[in-house]
Amino acid sequence: MEELWVFIEQDEGEVEESSLEVLSKARELGDKYGFEVVAIFLGDGVKNKAEEVGKHGASKVLVVDNPNLRHYNSELYSKVMEKLIMKYNPNTVLFSATRNGRDLAGRIAVKFKSGLLAHVISLDFDESKDLVGKVPGFGGNIAAVVKCIESRPQLATVTPGVFEIKEYKSTFEVIEEDLGVELEPKNIKILSKEKGEYIDISKSEKVVVAGMGTGGRMDLVEELAKLLGADVGVTRPLADIGVAPRDIQIGSTGVTLKSKLALILGASGAPHFTSGIKDCGLVITVNKDPEAPIKEYSDYLVVGDIFEIIPRLVKLLRGEENA
Ligand SMILES: Cc1cc2nc3c(=O)[nH]c(=O)nc-3n(C[C@H](O)[C@H](O)[C@H](O)COP(=O)(O)OP(=O)(O)OC[C@H]3O[C@@H](n4cnc5c(N)ncnc54)[C@H](O)[C@@H]3O)c2cc1C
Repeated sequence: MEELWVFIEQDEGEVEESSLEVLSKARELGDKYGFEVVAIFLGDGVKNKAEEVGKHGASKVLVVDNPNLRHYNSELYSKVMEKLIMKYNPNTVLFSATRNGRDLAGRIAVKFKSGLLAHVISLDFDESKDLVGKVPGFGGNIAAVVKCIESRPQLATVTPGVFEIKEYKSTFEVIEEDLGVELEPKNIKILSKEKGEYIDISKSEKVVVAGMGTGGRMDLVEELAKLLGADVGVTRPLADIGVAPRDIQIGSTGVTLKSKLALILGASGAPHFTSGIKDCGLVITVNKDPEAPIKEYSDYLVVGDIFEIIPRLVKLLRGEENA
């Protein structure tokens, strides 16, 4: 049976949830097209965590357990993946489109001269078992359907948050792989790593989103978010100019929100951005332009100047002003 692989990302044994989203989707495709779904799990001490992974759709969890794989390292991870691919010759390898997933998929695509569908928001196969996916394209105005033609293994990175994590009751096998290769990094060795302040906003219940209309005044946005008990997200230009980390960028090349409430401040509503808010519950936007395209995606559009509205809202929430 041909194999459909999913790279399971982890750091210090903590599994990246978006990898499990991809694995759950892979299982659905495996059942439909007759693939054996294999989770590829690299790390340090990960053998003990294989159960946690396998239940999300794998029929096999292939583990490479080595202290030097504790943190993601381009050189070592790509070396291991290349060896595994050469040994087992999978039909397809899927990655979550995280920073590490994108890095690794790109390296493998170059090594095997494979087709890579980057940042897909849907996945399927055609009758020749060529991988087909939708990618927002041409400035986000269309969702282009793209496919890998004949290259094997065919590769895709999947936008986090577009598929659901599922659990399956079927059994799976855990196989520890000893590749017989030295796993000593030649170029860079990570000695220690401190956790940053990264928040996974794809799971936040409430998000206040800053667009360019906020002028990058993250202090104002963060104050409002704090009073609302919400997390903060941004449109891409704000991440591009560095006023906010890329991790909290929303949209087709960022995070897809599933929050119950999204309060969107000064974002125009470009398709690349709105693809990241389509699964939100209540969407309230503030924009000085009553005709801004974001209107189409909003339950309520408040027309006004952010620099008047935010301070008033803050005062109201602090109980310093009456509505
Ligand atoms: C390949 C590619 C991928 C992309 N991926 C993403 C992505 O993942 N996420 C993303 O966000 N973008 C992405 N983009 C960029 C996207 O196309 C838009 O350029 C971007 O979303 C616009 O950001 P914005 O709405 O914050 O800024 P703008 O488009 O500049 O909009 C600012 C809005 O603020 C309003 N405004 C200004 N001042 C005020 C004020 N004082 N009070 C109230 N309202 C005000 C304006 O009326 C305007 O509507 C991508 C682009 C490309 C080409």
